[in-house]
Amino acid sequence: AAAASVDARGTAAAATPPPSTCSHRAAVRNQAVVTLITNNEGYPAGALAIAASLEVLESRLRRIAMVTDEVTQHIRELLASASWEVRVVPTIRCHQVLGPQITPDRYDLGEEYQRKKAKWIPTCTKLHAWNMTELTKVIFLDADTLVIKPIDALVDHPSAFSAAPDTFPADQFNSGVMVITPSAARFDELAAWNDDHGTAEGGDQGLLNEFFSEWFYNAWDADDAGRLPYIMNVAAAHHNQFKVLAQMQARDEPSILHFVGGESKPWHYMILKFQGMEDKIPEGARRLFATWDALYWLAKSNALCANGGVGGADRDRYAQMLAAV
Ligand code: UDP
Ligand code: MN
Repeated sequence: AAAASVDARGTAAAATPPPSTCSHRAAVRNQAVVTLITNNEGYPAGALAIAASLEVLESRLRRIAMVTDEVTQHIRELLASASWEVRVVPTIRCHQVLGPQITPDRYDLGEEYQRKKAKWIPTCTKLHAWNMTELTKVIFLDADTLVIKPIDALVDHPSAFSAAPDTFPADQFNSGVMVITPSAARFDELAAWNDDHGTAEGGDQGLLNEFFSEWFYNAWDADDAGRLPYIMNVAAAHHNQFKVLAQMQARDEPSILHFVGGESKPWHYMILKFQGMEDKIPEGARRLFATWDALYWLAKSNALCANGGVGGADRDRYAQMLAAV
């Protein structure tokens, strides 16, 4: 039923054929999964794994990777080979504003914490997702997510913006998974908000939570800022425990996992694996990581789209891995 409704919306603009041999991507032309890559290490690997998971799950949406100037030609080609349409966008730096009352004698914000936050400054480049006005809906995914169940039906979410709750702080949304109706006017408002108001925390998530400040109190289908269920953005470290709970309660299991946090990225786990230190990978995320790893190599070895793409028994095997995460 979900795929059919995507069909109904997508066929109007389906005149242009899919630009690669990747068999499922881009049958729907006016809706897309979008990610962001601002550097050449780690995150591009994440985008490869996402593309592989979407292909195995037979996603029919376009896949658009926004990249900034810093991203090398080699990485852009790698992304394109793995089914991403590469779109260069100017960096939007989050405008960090601490506020006049925040002084070292009143608040000790901690240097290390501050340093960690500084790496988030380019993440406001995400805002360009609102500018993709040739699309009727965008599913934005952080490059450190992995899709394990079909998500195309999210394009039917009625809100102009929706996101799932974060685990901490629990009264804010996590901006790693967002369903967005592109709008030039909303993009301008967000960019102006960044310039004028800024964000104390220094990343897109703080900025967006302040902009959509009513989100926590809203209905799932509120016009401006609706809510997605937690299963659409489950922190990888909680995955095992959450899955057991969902099964006990006979509720839906996660669709999108998110390797949230600076030290918890799958490309860090890949290094641990090479070094024979797999025991350092958090137990709850091990099987998930093994699946991420397999999907990453599927895309990295050019097996996702070349030579007819991943199909038949191969596709079934990867689909089974995703189902067993
Ligand atoms: N990002 C990137 N390069 C960076 C940092 C961030 O491309 O060096 C992009 C990427 O899409 C990433 C998103 O911005 O997923 C948000 O950053 P991150 O996922 O590291 O934040 P977290 O989810 O851990 O809070
Ligand atoms: Mn993330």
